[in-house]
Amino acid sequence: MSEIDLTLGRRPLRGELRTNQAMEKYTSWRAGGQAERLYVPADLPDFAEFVRGLPHGELIHVVGLGSNLLVRDGGLRGTVVILHARLNALRVERADNDGALIYAGAGVACPKVARFTALHGLAGAEFLAGIPGTFGGALAMNAGCYGAETWEIVEHVQIIDRAGELRVREPMDYEIAYRHAALKHETGSGKQDEQKLGNLAGEEWFVGGWLKLLRGEEAESRQKIKNLLAMRINSQPLNLPNAGSVFRNPEGDWAARLVESCGLKGFRVGGAMVSPKHANFIVNTGRASAANIEALIVAVRDTVKDQTGIELVPEVRIIGATA
Ligand SMILES: Cc1cc2nc3c(=O)[nH]c(=O)nc-3n(C[C@H](O)[C@H](O)[C@H](O)COP(=O)(O)OP(=O)(O)OC[C@H]3O[C@@H](n4cnc5c(N)ncnc54)[C@H](O)[C@@H]3O)c2cc1C
Repeated sequence: MSEIDLTLGRRPLRGELRTNQAMEKYTSWRAGGQAERLYVPADLPDFAEFVRGLPHGELIHVVGLGSNLLVRDGGLRGTVVILHARLNALRVERADNDGALIYAGAGVACPKVARFTALHGLAGAEFLAGIPGTFGGALAMNAGCYGAETWEIVEHVQIIDRAGELRVREPMDYEIAYRHAALKHETGSGKQDEQKLGNLAGEEWFVGGWLKLLRGEEAESRQKIKNLLAMRINSQPLNLPNAGSVFRNPEGDWAARLVESCGLKGFRVGGAMVSPKHANFIVNTGRASAANIEALIVAVRDTVKDQTGIELVPEVRIIGATA
């Protein structure tokens, strides 16, 4: 498909359609190839209208803040849809003495959700302050830190399917695990493997979700957020582009400990380097290509496997074609 007509849908589209967009602008690693087309919807109805107007078979890649994403240098076929700051609703849906139900749009940044719930005297979402992605990305990744995970506080989610229809789904519809959430019917055989590799442009996407939170103390939640951010500043290389932890922690161990034990801190491929501050972070020291970053991921994985026998599995999603 070469063209998308912005007037093709039932109603004219109000978002922005861009072509040949460098994905380094939309990913926290600040590296990667071009998206053939990129759409920034005006809001949820506009996103739905856009999806409805797309020809069958057009690949759609939904991206939030690109904080867990490596787009190979050969770029992406199809259309990237950027949800950050667009699907932006954040509200108290219902509240009583025990707690409240909060609705957050998929484009809301996680730290904003954490601050909003803390300000409303609700406990349980403070950990989201440390996740520099969107709420939709946190649902897709089951993002978490300091012993808490996104899906533990999810009551329902709202999705959009390939036909542009909106629906509410329940947590039981998903297979949920450490840094993993997939629709149960999608987890059969080969499809799951493709999803693990991050190569599958999906058939439905999160547009929002409801969080069930218990009543807490505003001051306590704010302090928790403050402590958590201080810990991150001390332990993570936040001054250079990165995508957080590159590898999942293997059962009973820490990926960072294993990488460090193999003497890989500071190890480089081109402009990509294993952070000397946190061994499970790969930083872009300035001019890293996606190929540099991916080659370093492979080199680290292979070295750790050779020296410890443990095969680390990437947490970051790697998509697109090689250059
Ligand atoms: C400094 C730093 C620290 C980090 N710390 C943590 C941490 O403590 N814990 C943690 O879990 N992660 C952490 N991360 C990783 C990252 O922030 C999370 O994985 C986050 O949830 C990704 O959100 P995003 O909006 O950036 O998703 P993206 O990177 O844009 O996308 C990631 C994947 O989710 C899919 N996706 C995004 N939005 C949607 C949607 N609406 N519907 C369906 N699929 C979607 C994308 O297609 C892609 O496959 C960190 C990253 C950085 C840079």
